[in-house]
Amino acid sequence: MPDINELRDVVRGRVLTDPDDMAPFLTDWRRIWTGRALAVVQPDDAEVVAAVVRWCGDHGVAIVPQGGNTGLSGGATPLAVGACIVLSLARMKAIRTVDAVNNTITVEAGCILADVQAAAQDVNRLFPLSLAAEGSCTIGGNLATNAGGTGVLRYGNMRDLCLGLEVVTADGAVWDGLRALRKDNTGYDLRDLFIGSEGTLGVITAAVLKLFPPSVGRCVAVAALECPANALDLLHLAQTHLSGGLTGFELFSDFCLELVLHHREGARRPVEESAPWYVLIEASSATDADLANEAMQSLLEAGFEQGLVIDAALSSSEAQAEALWALREDISEAQGEAGKTIKHDVALPLSQLADFIIESEAALDARFPEVRTGVFGHVGDGNLHFNVLPRDGTPDTIVESLTGPVNKLVHDIVVARGGSISAEHGLGVLRRDESARYKSEVEMAMMRCIKHALDPRGIMNPDKLLAHDVGSLVGQ
Ligand code: FAD
Repeated sequence: MPDINELRDVVRGRVLTDPDDMAPFLTDWRRIWTGRALAVVQPDDAEVVAAVVRWCGDHGVAIVPQGGNTGLSGGATPLAVGACIVLSLARMKAIRTVDAVNNTITVEAGCILADVQAAAQDVNRLFPLSLAAEGSCTIGGNLATNAGGTGVLRYGNMRDLCLGLEVVTADGAVWDGLRALRKDNTGYDLRDLFIGSEGTLGVITAAVLKLFPPSVGRCVAVAALECPANALDLLHLAQTHLSGGLTGFELFSDFCLELVLHHREGARRPVEESAPWYVLIEASSATDADLANEAMQSLLEAGFEQGLVIDAALSSSEAQAEALWALREDISEAQGEAGKTIKHDVALPLSQLADFIIESEAALDARFPEVRTGVFGHVGDGNLHFNVLPRDGTPDTIVESLTGPVNKLVHDIVVARGGSISAEHGLGVLRRDESARYKSEVEMAMMRCIKHALDPRGIMNPDKLLAHDVGSLVGQ
């Protein structure tokens, strides 16, 4: 067993080995997985990260990079067999530069997302990645999972928001790829390899991110609809009426809304009569708050005329806009209270999305009458959280026992319709094996090739994203 005390010199004492100190780093946010590690190591700059990686490589110790530990697929939990450390980036949270002319910000990987948003706001700019965990997730974790959230429709996901990276490679070298360029065709795109790699290829230590002009005003509406197909027709209309001003388009079922109304005191139904489905639409304007409101009104009128919208509520203040958004944002938490949930984070071509919901709900009803769906998501991006919850009276143990077959049923339909079984949460350990089953042998072979080329000793987050490769892993 390697002497972990040697690492104390390398990282100037920032090594946690006491079980109580380490505990928060060893269990994931949802408390599904708990792992074990020799130590939690907290470097404060890239050179120290590189020294830690070299030490681990020399001693056959695996490395699990960790940011805010809010990931939902188990990627940041140390679960591998054999000796490993958690490499926490939490102390690397400097904002290195803000370049308002170039519309970029250069930050260290341990920066909390909300702090980066605030730093952008200080120079009257917007960093548009936005998700419910923004108060604790980090830029390194956002990049390593290629996070999405509610701003993707207008601004893209983390891959679209990143221009350059600094990475410590698996052999302990520092790659300075902190380019602040919007055009750079000088060979393979190494940056894009590390984004979404879930800590399996190297440690991201800093990034150059894009900034945007902020919106001056926004208008939020919730429209009641008969079916998801009408939501997609309304999205098409919204793209015409609002164009680049369309900054949010979220779908949720009446069952999801009911859960929120029950869960949160003070939450109110946005329209008089309940309807089977709702969409939340956000329109923003960079120049004039009234413009967003006018464009939204004209969209809703067109929606009524075409028979797509049954009823609608429109915000006339920022407080009302926030209250409408809260109905959507509270769904996850409200579902958590309703019992054991089988979660699916799927993406589909928009043209397949409505039929996917109909087909999957019918198939689930027929085969698993003990459960029901609670569907919501970033429908503008083709991303649904197609969750499955117990019907009244179904114990959690039954739902638990159905997880495998329900996953297979839902994911088979997703893949048959050209979709993805992980839209924004990554593979980690949760979807690793299922993903391998659905991908072609050609695709899996290329992925293994990249892993071997960049991490030949297999020390970077082994067993995540790709299954354990007996030939190359440390400790074999
Ligand atoms: P961690 O959980 O610490 O790590 C996640 C993965 O990245 C792990 O594989 C880890 O090894 C790797 N990693 C972390 N830091 C580094 C690094 N510096 N270098 C290399 N690898 C690294 N995701 C969405 O996309 N959209 C959402 O809307 C969304 N909503 C969420 C809401 C809640 C309430 C929660 C808890 C999570 C949500 N997520 C969402 C999940 C999302 O992926 C994470 O919140 C976030 O992106 C992960 O950041 P983190 O710093 O917590 O990473």
